[in-house]
Amino acid sequence: MDNVVAIEIKKCSKIYHKNGKDIVALKNINLSFEYGKFYLIVGHSGSGKTTLMNILGLIDSKYDGIVKINNKEVNNLKSKELAKIRNTNIGFIFQDFYLDNFLTAQENVLTPMLINQKKYSYKEMEDKSKILLDKVGLSERIKHFPKELSGGEQQRVAIARALANNPNIILADEPTGNLDVENEEYIFNLLKEMSKNFKCIIMVSHSKDAKKYADVVYNLENGEINYDKN
Ligand code: ADP
Ligand code: MG
Repeated sequence: MDNVVAIEIKKCSKIYHKNGKDIVALKNINLSFEYGKFYLIVGHSGSGKTTLMNILGLIDSKYDGIVKINNKEVNNLKSKELAKIRNTNIGFIFQDFYLDNFLTAQENVLTPMLINQKKYSYKEMEDKSKILLDKVGLSERIKHFPKELSGGEQQRVAIARALANNPNIILADEPTGNLDVENEEYIFNLLKEMSKNFKCIIMVSHSKDAKKYADVVYNLENGEINYDKN
């Protein structure tokens, strides 16, 4: 699995139009991300990091340029096809966790499996959700609701949920922004381990420790990439 490209973007630009004004968020970005590597994207607030992540994660399709996932162009796909690619290939982790507060930890992890396919029985999916929650150290908390969990625990549920459909690409936008140092270390280590298992990890982080974990660091400044010497 050496040097296999997971996501590639070419000549990618993004302009937001708001209140009659144009905001140039990304300028002619060319990047590729390989399996088995941990990428870190750094940059000041407003430099375009989330905009880039939304394009890489097929959440935003209104941009100029080319995006390829597993060497397949996705630009002209319909939203239903994009959703399918997203659901099977990409796992998202956000700063605010975005768990469903009315579902238990286990039910949160089950949700993407239920959306994705019916080829597994409910029992198989339940077993899988337990394995994933065990993997993030939460086997004692599977019946807890988000409000009964600490921030670090909630983010670990979100990571288990991101892994529910075995995606090979993980996008994490400031995943430890709301967490203390201990939880941050736990989460960076989990992501690092995933990259060693041939997943492509792309993380935005402001943490000064994040660089220790990353294989490649990209620095975004005003919508442009500067290669960080690391
Ligand atoms: P970062 O994640 O690095 O803080 P963003 O990608 O969120 O940066 O934002 C990049 C620029 O685009 C900023 O100037 C921001 O204000 C602007 N922007 C982001 N989202 C929108 C939006 N939905 N509408 C208009 N402008 C936006
Ligand atoms: Mg952001």
